[in-house]
Amino acid sequence: MRTLRMGMVGGGPGSFIGRIHRLAAELDGDAELVCGAFSSDAKRSQEAGQAYRLDASRVYASYRQMMEAEKALSADQRMDYVAVVTPNHVHYEPARLALQGGFHVVVDKPLSFSLEEAQSLHEIVKHTGQLLAVTYAYSGYPMVKQARALIAQGAVGTVRKIFIEYTQGWLSTELEKSGHKQASWRTDPTRSGAGGAIGDIGTHAAHLAEYVSGRRITHLNALINTYVPGRRLDDDSSLLLRFDNGATGVLVATQVAAGEENNLVIRVYGEQGGLEWSQLEPNSLIQRSPDKPMQVWRAGSNYLGGAAAANTRTPPGHPEGYLEAFANIYTAFHNAINARSTNGAAAGELDFPGIADGVRGMAFIETALRSAHSSEKWTEFV
Ligand code: NAD
Repeated sequence: MRTLRMGMVGGGPGSFIGRIHRLAAELDGDAELVCGAFSSDAKRSQEAGQAYRLDASRVYASYRQMMEAEKALSADQRMDYVAVVTPNHVHYEPARLALQGGFHVVVDKPLSFSLEEAQSLHEIVKHTGQLLAVTYAYSGYPMVKQARALIAQGAVGTVRKIFIEYTQGWLSTELEKSGHKQASWRTDPTRSGAGGAIGDIGTHAAHLAEYVSGRRITHLNALINTYVPGRRLDDDSSLLLRFDNGATGVLVATQVAAGEENNLVIRVYGEQGGLEWSQLEPNSLIQRSPDKPMQVWRAGSNYLGGAAAANTRTPPGHPEGYLEAFANIYTAFHNAINARSTNGAAAGELDFPGIADGVRGMAFIETALRSAHSSEKWTEFV
């Protein structure tokens, strides 16, 4: 196995998630950032490249230039894959060029600006055979994987109720008017897409609900609001959900819960008990049963096996969190690339969110908005 070479589009000075991707990709020593087009401004891209300690010849003025230049390098030099960590309206084109140029791709969520773009990327992935991961990072937490495994083993019986809440408070005021970089594009329909909070964090919640429960949402009824006067996209949503096995649920995704941090909580109840996981306490998983005291599963413990153990690096009590969850997605993606280059098999079985999850996320935004504007009680989500 060799160290994989990573490229990046986005992640320039003052940006949020690019640096997280770089740390996550490099955490396990199986990949290294070697090149990037970090900003739409050539000078700022060079500034970022210096901060990342990259060779100036591998820091590009645009992602188009980067794809061409990297393709022209020898196979033992050019990047293996590229992470696209730009605002949503700049996901499709760099991802398309990379896939068609023979590179694997990581794209942050939501996959694209529109459902149409997502479907087009799906076709390109099928056609090129390249791998594509979408960083629904919360599915990388070890205790989320433990919850998924327990439910699949029948530990709570048939699933009946799923509650998922993603509450943030940072957009409680008109932050976008103060020049705040991340607030500015997230509330702009020409850069974020049709969804505000429903796209930014609602997609995380919907993915996690399906990932943990192993069930698919089939219908939804969405109430979508914009609380901050003058804001051009939604900042709050409450949805009723129906799942493919008859289970029902509630999804809340809001960015105006004043004072709240990244408070993501999932609770799943079956006929025989329930599970609860919260990002603010990520190394604990609570299991409730009607006939015995509550149990708390703890990350890093010897009694954990399978995916939870495989996705933990330290013994119990040493906190692992968001960065490591992100890294777990990268490591699975790297393993898939390596499996591809050694025997061409197994890649599909590795546990990271892929193109189908990305397309489903975009369909979720579109369906939720359609439901919010409809007078029908239920809107089908296919
Ligand atoms: P940001 O505004 O902080 O950073 C975006 C970066 O992209 C900036 O450096 C900007 O200069 C650069 N950029 C813009 N246009 C470009 C172009 N044409 N070429 C090269 N670079 C360009 O945004 P962010 O908060 O880091 O979000 C980026 C993406 O990551 C979004 O899609 C967002 O939804 C997603 N995100 C995901 C998570 C998660 O938990 N998975 C968390 C935060 C953000």
